[in-house]
Amino acid sequence: MLCFVLHGIGDLRAEECPVPAPGPGEALVKIAGCAICHTDLAVIDGDFPIRGLPLVLGHEYAGTIAEVGPGTTAFAVGERVTAHSGATCGLCEMCRHGMPWLCLNKRVYNGGYAEYVALPERCLYRVPPEVTDEQAICTNPFAIAVHAVDASRVQPGASVAVVGGGAIGLLLVALLRFAGAGPVIVSEPSAERRSMALEFGAHVALDPFACDLAGEIRALTNGLGVHVVLESAGTIGTIEQSFGLVRRGGAITIVGVPAPQSKASFSPFDVVTGNLTIHGSIGPGWNYPRTIELLPKVRPERVFTHRLPLSQLPEALGLRRRNIGIKVLVVP
Ligand SMILES: [Zn+2]
Ligand SMILES: [Zn+2]
Repeated sequence: MLCFVLHGIGDLRAEECPVPAPGPGEALVKIAGCAICHTDLAVIDGDFPIRGLPLVLGHEYAGTIAEVGPGTTAFAVGERVTAHSGATCGLCEMCRHGMPWLCLNKRVYNGGYAEYVALPERCLYRVPPEVTDEQAICTNPFAIAVHAVDASRVQPGASVAVVGGGAIGLLLVALLRFAGAGPVIVSEPSAERRSMALEFGAHVALDPFACDLAGEIRALTNGLGVHVVLESAGTIGTIEQSFGLVRRGGAITIVGVPAPQSKASFSPFDVVTGNLTIHGSIGPGWNYPRTIELLPKVRPERVFTHRLPLSQLPEALGLRRRNIGIKVLVVP
């Protein structure tokens, strides 16, 4: 089968390898499709540390169980599934304090840039019939939005600014509207992405380079600023800008992943006297079952703007790198 293996920084190779045999407690998944995540580029470039190379990348995928290993009991051949490619240890302090997504000993399995993948059944989640394959492939990125909205404690009627209208930004907008937030205001320089943000339910989409963003947001929120800023661009400029958009007593949640060595500056005086809350929100958390329930209601698959065969993964990564479209799907 065809798979794309990362051997080291910048060393992603197309390889012909045997279909893996599922070991004890594992299942073999025939992949229906895998979406490109910005984190894949960061991993390839060495900007996001990952253990266990060589590794097949791709963590946003879904498929059908083709074979089960000895002792696999929860899943059967023919069932549709999506997966967490990282398995937690269940024993470390983080796992035992109910935060398994922060597991200190997380093991990352091969991913979805292949025709098949074998992994432990505890990494798999059943996909019900009303969920399409493309929706199921969105489980991981959409769970990132669920995790971040949970962290922000967004209440119905809360005003929210989403800074950055990429895939996660758009998924946040769709989820926020579903959760009853409003107004939902998106800040995004690209006209194409702003119009998509409006399609996803944003009340207002602003170009931060063409307006006084903080002023416009205050005008939309009784002069106060928003209850919650969800920062999904992950740049220092947008993180620093978020402090000017939030109201007293509000919260800023950083979802976009900044470069590891970057530093931002803000006024701790304003944080204290404004009684602000700053959150970091990493990854999909432990929200797959609830996210899968939400998929057909929120239709996150609307983020897919490009679909390419798996053999064209390098071209697909190139689209992502050049910020063309929103989300790219590769299909074996
Ligand atoms: Zn991702
Ligand atoms: Zn652990």
